[in-house]
Amino acid sequence: MSADSQILQRLPSVSKLLQKDSVQALIDLYSRELVVNGIQEYLEELRTEIQEGQLSDQVLSERIDSLDSTVRFKLEQRLAPSLGKVINASGVIIHTNVGRAPLAPEAAEAIQEVATGYSNLEYNLETGKRGHRDLHFEERICRLLSCQAASVCNNNAAAVLLILNTLARNKKVLVSRGELVEIGGSFRIPAIMERSGVILKEVGTTNKTKTSDYRDAIDKDTALILRVHPSNYKIVGFTHRPELSELVELARESKIPLVEDAGSGLLFSSSHPFLREEPSVQSVLAEGVDLVCFSGDKLLGGPQAGIMVGQKELVDAIRRNPLMRACRVDKMSYAALEWTLIQYDNGTYKSVIPVQRMLSAAAEEIKTRAQRLGDLLDSKLFSSEIKAGFSLIGGGSAPEEQIPTYVLAVTSKQHSVNELERQLRKSPTPVIARIENDQLILDLRTVFPEQEDLIVSAFAEIASLFAEIASQK
Ligand SMILES: *Cc1c(COP(=O)(O)O)cnc(C)c1O
Repeated sequence: MSADSQILQRLPSVSKLLQKDSVQALIDLYSRELVVNGIQEYLEELRTEIQEGQLSDQVLSERIDSLDSTVRFKLEQRLAPSLGKVINASGVIIHTNVGRAPLAPEAAEAIQEVATGYSNLEYNLETGKRGHRDLHFEERICRLLSCQAASVCNNNAAAVLLILNTLARNKKVLVSRGELVEIGGSFRIPAIMERSGVILKEVGTTNKTKTSDYRDAIDKDTALILRVHPSNYKIVGFTHRPELSELVELARESKIPLVEDAGSGLLFSSSHPFLREEPSVQSVLAEGVDLVCFSGDKLLGGPQAGIMVGQKELVDAIRRNPLMRACRVDKMSYAALEWTLIQYDNGTYKSVIPVQRMLSAAAEEIKTRAQRLGDLLDSKLFSSEIKAGFSLIGGGSAPEEQIPTYVLAVTSKQHSVNELERQLRKSPTPVIARIENDQLILDLRTVFPEQEDLIVSAFAEIASLFAEIASQK
């Protein structure tokens, strides 16, 4: 018998291990099947190490003795959720990678209220008969925007797909060459048009498109004019885009619906200096556009959704499309959306919807918070300074607008800025920051005040980690 196979024989059996008190304690915490699974995996690892000649007799005994704690650690990791909270100190308000618009706690409560029980989602309490889920938001949004009808689907990409597929399948849709945009990697206007089953008819040029370009392109197969808000880029210089009123007139004359993909979902025109140029849904509708679609989780500040508003005839047709059933949203989205719209109805949205609050926070207010945080972070290991900087709206809204802010620029006295950034990302509540000129930049515009203490503890933990590393050298 070789030395290896002698050691292999010393590996205990699973049934023997299951008799240990410490393993029984694990079964109280996790299912028996999971524990058995964990033990088998661990024994398999030991077997491999033995066969590779890496394990002495002595080490093997130690590893067997510590089996329960190793298995416990593995099971904890296996059952830990992967999706979790992060602190967004990037200063990008609508950041797709970190979940776009954060919901207000009250919106989350509204979700909880309907999510954990039954609700009147599609039940008319007056008549005792079947209702329609859109009732929970349609009347309110129509009142807010002075329009006839509204419906909602999974996201704005789905809204564009549904609109095109319903109103223009196998027909031509006119789009300006300056608006054939890509938004966030996978949403490309030409691609979504193809999948919607419509024929893209490009009009004008990249920098200049005139109303006459649209007019000249209209023929008997033209079913729709689509205008796309070029959310994330801007053409400057020698450019022309028709006035909306001209397109409205052309659409009326030609009896072809005019649809606008408004993107960000700014409901009302804003006096905010960085949103003055952003067309609001209300103003686009008021100009006479037949149908407008936008996201729920960008500037609107609500849940992920694609909201379609406009003429009843068009919305009704979309509702009848079988694809609508494939893109509809559930009770949780309606609950959060309704709460969000109530805030617009009540005029409280600027102070209670997180995205709106972050947008309007004054630079001086952010400076005061950054100074306080800086004082708490300065230590033997870190130094910080306040600098003027810019926050971004993000999320394909007002792309070039930079909102003045103050940032906290932190440096580690002994470690690289990349190491500091990496450790912050690995904190119990990960902190997302950016690096500029070898400094770690924290913009508190996108950090909730109650999260500042978590940032302080993240730095404290990193400090003790760095101290530990130093003492080992
Ligand atoms: C963001 C955006 C979309 C995509 O919206 P989702 O809600 O992410 O699906 C489509 N069109 C425009 C103009 C946008 O800004």
